[in-house]
Amino acid sequence: MAAITMKNIVKQYGDGFPAVNDVSIDVADGEFMILVGPSGCGKSTLLRMIVGLEDITSGDMLIGDRRVNDLAPRERNLAMVFQNYALYPHLTVYENIAFPLRLAKMSDDEVDRLVRDASDTLELNEHLERKPGNLSGGQRQRVAMGRAIVRQADAFLFDEPLSNLDAKLRGQMRTEIARLQKRLGITTVYVTHDQTEAMTLGDRVAVLKRGLLQQLATPRELYENPGNLFVAGFIGSPPMNFLPATVEGNQVKLPFGSVEIPAEKAERAAGKGLLIAGIRPEHFEDASLAAEDRRAGSTFSAKVDVVEWLGNETYAYIPFESPDEVKQQLQQLEKDLDGEAMRTQLVVSLDGASRIAEGQDAEIWVDGRRIHLFDPATGENLT
Ligand code: ATP
Repeated sequence: MAAITMKNIVKQYGDGFPAVNDVSIDVADGEFMILVGPSGCGKSTLLRMIVGLEDITSGDMLIGDRRVNDLAPRERNLAMVFQNYALYPHLTVYENIAFPLRLAKMSDDEVDRLVRDASDTLELNEHLERKPGNLSGGQRQRVAMGRAIVRQADAFLFDEPLSNLDAKLRGQMRTEIARLQKRLGITTVYVTHDQTEAMTLGDRVAVLKRGLLQQLATPRELYENPGNLFVAGFIGSPPMNFLPATVEGNQVKLPFGSVEIPAEKAERAAGKGLLIAGIRPEHFEDASLAAEDRRAGSTFSAKVDVVEWLGNETYAYIPFESPDEVKQQLQQLEKDLDGEAMRTQLVVSLDGASRIAEGQDAEIWVDGRRIHLFDPATGENLT
């Protein structure tokens, strides 16, 4: 096993915008690192440079303390698990797992021992004589991982391994990959565009946008302290609301009314003029249901346009107007995020017990402690 160190990595195809632009990421030995971002952000290119399928324009790629920039893929001792699993359809599960060992000219006894160890770990024993075509997507995934395990690679690299699976199986496989990675303790780099996979699998997550590293942090840190508008909008479902805001004293003025925020947040945003406030849907509540300790926040009154009742929670939609300056920044964000709905309405997620109805003036509570304030020019989180 080994750490993977990316130092100022650049990938330039032709003369356009670099696909990967000066990215530095340290993956610790045994760590599960996620590379996430919308289509075209450069995450696959970065992974392909780690494994050696793509030349590095500049920067240093280290596996352990070996610089691997000029090593061929097979000299890097990494195991890549692709989206389509890259299994040989005419070989049995046993022979698919054994394949890299046969290439290495290992003895039959040694091959047998390693394949059986891997198939025990992956619970594939009863499928060893079957062909990939007769396996479920999840089983094929495990065969692909088996092939990586027997090689005793220094690290696993995954490129969107679950994107071909239906939602239920994707959930199961996600749990399985997390369990196996912990058990094997093997350094892992995993590419996905799915923020749920990123949040649930990663020890740390690197968020990329157009070749640039936006933030590298634990899932909790990304959720609680997104560094900029892009990360804030990308992480979380439903996505964070963005509203025009100004700060006066300890109050943030929003289109619906003023909300009290902690003094240190207010100080960091003081004197900055028009800002963009970011509030997650789950940090609102129906004021009539808000628990006592929540009353410390602020309540405002707003006309609810649409209500969606899901049983456990209720989404209420409240339209609002933004000045052009804020609209422009949000339009750009929209493009960067690759097709999110334009923020002209507030989405609040309320307890399913809420009786809020469409067309009603509702009393909504908001947690002032969880409001983020962004600089509209740079997108930076000031709070
Ligand atoms: P996706 O999830 O859609 O695969 P990604 O985030 O993995 O996206 P990359 O595939 O790494 O992004 O692509 C990053 C950028 O580099 C894109 O703008 C893409 O068009 C460009 N690119 C990728 N491969 C090549 C290539 N072989 N030649 C030229 N440009 C490329």
